[in-house]
Amino acid sequence: MNDKRIRSIAILGGGTAGWVSASLLARALHNQGCTITVVESPDIGTVGVGEATIPPITEFLKFLGIDEGDFIRHTQGTFKLGIKFPDWRRPGHTYWHPFGTFGSTINRRPFHHYFLAAQAKGWAPRFNDFSLCSALGDENRFRFPDAQAPGPVAGLRYALHFDAGLVAKYLRSYATHLGVAPLEKTVSHASQAENGHIAALHFTDGTQLAADLFIDCSGFRGLLIEQTLKTGYEDWTRWLPCDRAVAFPTATASPRPPYTQALARTAGWQWRIPLQQRTGNGHVYSSAHLEDQAALDDLLSVLGEKPLAEPRFLRFTTGRRKQFWAGNCVAIGLASGFLEPLESTSIHLAMSGIYNLLDHFPDRDFAPANIESYNRELIAEIEHVRDFIILHYCATEREDTEFWRYCKTMQVPDSLAERIALYKESGRIRTRPGELFTDLSWFYIFAGLGITPAAIDPMTAVVDDQRLRGILGEMAEQTAAALRQAPSHDSYFKDLAAVPA
Ligand SMILES: Cc1cc2nc3c(=O)[nH]c(=O)nc-3n(C[C@H](O)[C@H](O)[C@H](O)COP(=O)(O)OP(=O)(O)OC[C@H]3O[C@@H](n4cnc5c(N)ncnc54)[C@H](O)[C@@H]3O)c2cc1C
Repeated sequence: MNDKRIRSIAILGGGTAGWVSASLLARALHNQGCTITVVESPDIGTVGVGEATIPPITEFLKFLGIDEGDFIRHTQGTFKLGIKFPDWRRPGHTYWHPFGTFGSTINRRPFHHYFLAAQAKGWAPRFNDFSLCSALGDENRFRFPDAQAPGPVAGLRYALHFDAGLVAKYLRSYATHLGVAPLEKTVSHASQAENGHIAALHFTDGTQLAADLFIDCSGFRGLLIEQTLKTGYEDWTRWLPCDRAVAFPTATASPRPPYTQALARTAGWQWRIPLQQRTGNGHVYSSAHLEDQAALDDLLSVLGEKPLAEPRFLRFTTGRRKQFWAGNCVAIGLASGFLEPLESTSIHLAMSGIYNLLDHFPDRDFAPANIESYNRELIAEIEHVRDFIILHYCATEREDTEFWRYCKTMQVPDSLAERIALYKESGRIRTRPGELFTDLSWFYIFAGLGITPAAIDPMTAVVDDQRLRGILGEMAEQTAAALRQAPSHDSYFKDLAAVPA
């Protein structure tokens, strides 16, 4: 037996990131003789606004052995088939980033090349004929995927909307059942050992907690990774200028759309997230271009509904810690950095940070090469997501406000500039293994924002026009048939209203 095994883990923070981390670690290390403590302050609240997710959330629940239906019942959950983006390309125009498949490969070529070929031939193919998720979404319908079914039903994917506070409560209960110890105390500071590692958390009541491994889930303040270890922060505001948000709930919208809406505004955008018994709304904006009060007024006027709670203002700086893991401390969630919520990626990145930690699980020697490998992989992941979000802004046609003119003309990271150039020239999107957003996701944003490649993949010419028309027609029929058979999204929540929050 390895006597250098990690015997104790202290997780600082009981927000979504803290309880996601505790749940995953408790599940993975169950019966390994390692104690896990989650420290949450009774005086310092959580951000609590993360309500939209992406499809890997269903894998997370499966890994934990949590019944999805039970989770949905207790978290006000609804289904999400993608994100709808009104007014991003120009006011009055809407595009989709749906989940799931888009047509299917023909002769090993991704379908989007044939879609572009059909467009170039002037056939005006309909996007929703090939994306079951957006077709369902536009009609407020939902169905589960079926791996055995023919056509697009097998390739359907979905995520969840939920109440972040209820999720933290649910996962808290899950993790404590697996032996995780919650500790309601406020940390005043952390002490360090001679080698610079964190030695103990010191509480305001004079007590302390020592551990082998510390997970910093303390939110934007990064109490361990930044305030104690001073790892530094890389600021990405020049590419993603939104740095504020105001959020409040309104009454349930009926029908509840099975998608997140991200509506572009003059200096940012507004989300609308339907839950079972309320709707979450927020305005993400650039403080250099819009005052707080004007942002709130704009959200109120767009919604035309009464807030059910006081509006909450939030400030953030888009970017990342220079190191996610330093010594014996790993930062997860907002403590590790923040990308604005346009593509609902934060909770996923927290999960990914822990999955990666499990892949790099240390012993008490904390081998530096292992830590470097972890940091390299996590940095690549967050930079990939950053580029994807920047594309939504920089490829706009909008020039109607100073904010949009800035976004349209800013110099983007080289990694993104290369991707845009490749697509513009050839319609090709090359993704690397492990990247979160597939070529399809990139295609949706390129196409949605009206970027048309100069050339069509020559390999599409192998399929002659008559055959291609036949294939497109067949796919459209399969999508239409699946759409007709799908129940309304609301019908899934008819009997759930009685579940206590
Ligand atoms: C406007 C906005 C919208 C968002 N929307 C989405 C979305 O749609 N989808 C998505 O995936 N993500 C979204 N996010 C991100 C998401 O909210 C966060 O990733 C998630 O809530 C995790 O937060 P956290 O747990 O890291 O931090 P927090 O929620 O801030 O939790 C911090 C915890 O640390 C504890 N703590 C802090 N200091 C101390 C101390 N001194 N002693 C003891 N305890 C302490 C606090 O008590 C708290 O429990 C959004 C974020 C913002 C700002």
